[in-house]
Amino acid sequence: MTHGKGRSLLMIPGPIEFEPAVLQALGEPTTSHVSAGFIETFGHVLEQMRDVWFSPSGQPFVVAGSGTLAMDMAGANLIEPGDHALVVITGVFGERFAQLLERYGAKVTAIRAPLGQAVETAEIETALSEASYKLMTLTHVDTSTGVRSDAQAFGKMGRKHGVLTVLDGVCSVAGEEIRQDEWGIDVVLTASQKAIGVPPGLALLVASPRAIDAFANRKAPVPNYYADWEKWLPVMAAYEKRTPSYFGTPPVNLISALAVSLDQIVDEGMEARFARHHRLGRAFQTGVDALGLRHVPSVERNRAVTLSAVYLPDSAESAALRSEMARSGIVIAGGLHPEIREKTIRIGHMGAVGPTDVLGTLAALERALLGLGCAMDPGAGTLAGQKALTQDMS
Ligand code: PMP
Repeated sequence: MTHGKGRSLLMIPGPIEFEPAVLQALGEPTTSHVSAGFIETFGHVLEQMRDVWFSPSGQPFVVAGSGTLAMDMAGANLIEPGDHALVVITGVFGERFAQLLERYGAKVTAIRAPLGQAVETAEIETALSEASYKLMTLTHVDTSTGVRSDAQAFGKMGRKHGVLTVLDGVCSVAGEEIRQDEWGIDVVLTASQKAIGVPPGLALLVASPRAIDAFANRKAPVPNYYADWEKWLPVMAAYEKRTPSYFGTPPVNLISALAVSLDQIVDEGMEARFARHHRLGRAFQTGVDALGLRHVPSVERNRAVTLSAVYLPDSAESAALRSEMARSGIVIAGGLHPEIREKTIRIGHMGAVGPTDVLGTLAALERALLGLGCAMDPGAGTLAGQKALTQDMS
């Protein structure tokens, strides 16, 4: 259902709402992928990624595909059959990483957090001191639970124990704070459709010199033709040197849109961007608290600022609540984690999101709950959200 202006507000945890200038770039006439203009755009994108990832030493990759391809590139290029990998799991996307690494022949040890919790750093540390691993993965923000893990401690532990670290930042890069080089993380990967602010279709990752060395020293060939870094490294190097190159045709318009979005992100400033996400995310969550609803992440420290995963009152069903909200022109997501699928909703607040979106969503949530007959105080969530947003203003 659409709203007054013929469209709804998309408040799911990806794809998100996109800036008009980004969408305009998608509608521009497509040029050759080896035209001078596009070579400059692609080269610029690779340089901007180093700034957004805080990884001056990193090797960026931009490839057509979704976030799962970015995960696949890390697995295909860094795992050889028989390698030991430690996978830290806080939801569905950690499980996906374990399956993916096994597909490439890894012997996977998984550490699973109880639902709604992060794995304690000490537990990871113990696992690392008890056995030897080539690589470990962490989902920075697991979109199925809204749980955020400590990426800084993860990078530090990887360096201390000589283990390659791969951070699934699909629901965090450009929204949650990440400093790849300083924190010592070897691969930080994401997809275009979340806080990076570009429609779905791009797999993005930055690999450290250590990760590239590990790839270069492989004995077994990469068993995935499309994902093989050997194919993509010369292409990325060529674009950065502003020379033509080809392996697979790059999605010209999506990469032009990415250039627009990365420029906007760099213009906003990373510190300001992290602060905005924090302010808006926490304001939304304060509103949820005031409605008497419970968050899936059990403690605030482990709660993402890019999305909220929220339990509904027992009497409300996720699908019914979502159609009530759609009547207000606001699209939110249902549960994703199999154990809590029907009992939860998920709301994205990242990228081109502002205070009005957050307050409008809280207000629509209040009306939807009332519409389903849930006892609550209309306005309580919106008021708490507004107070949180304005607390530094007076
Ligand atoms: N990891 C996380 C944390 C995600 O949220 C998602 C997508 N929701 C993925 C990986 C997979 O990305 P995609 O759907 O773009 O393949």
